[in-house]
Amino acid sequence: MSFCFGGRHVTTINHNNIAAVLRGLKFDLRAYLRGRDIEHRAEFERMGIANAAADLLLKTEALLTAAVLDGVALEASPTTRSVISSGWRPAAVNAATPGAAVYSRHMRARAIDLYDPDGELDDWCMDHLPELERIGFWLEHPSATKGWCHLQDEPPRSGKRVFYP
Ligand SMILES: [Zn+2]
Repeated sequence: MSFCFGGRHVTTINHNNIAAVLRGLKFDLRAYLRGRDIEHRAEFERMGIANAAADLLLKTEALLTAAVLDGVALEASPTTRSVISSGWRPAAVNAATPGAAVYSRHMRARAIDLYDPDGELDDWCMDHLPELERIGFWLEHPSATKGWCHLQDEPPRSGKRVFYP
């Protein structure tokens, strides 16, 4: 399998270059926050977003590492230029997001959307539910997230590992 990032072509992905692969996908805190920590500083601080986001990204990194090593081909969203297609949403941003839940976990940095145009990552998650459980993630059902993969590190009300919004 081969992979393209930062203008370089990598033919083998292993534990030694996975960090570079994730960097190439712009998987980082900056992409998760998108400057909203500056624009909505009071909310960012009051809600303890820095800690929640750091924790969420560590879990996401564990999941993406396992998926990529398994051969899942990830790519950056053309909109955000990152594999993160939606990250932290301050209340005002969430309210202006079409289809977003009123009390979305994105508002507390307990959820992340990953760009998944062909559902490859969703499929991998569905095939690796014990891995999600080990990491501490719950997955919105792929049929409700066409084009992205929604993961959260809090259980939904139903408590089901894979849930409908
Ligand atoms: Zn989401």
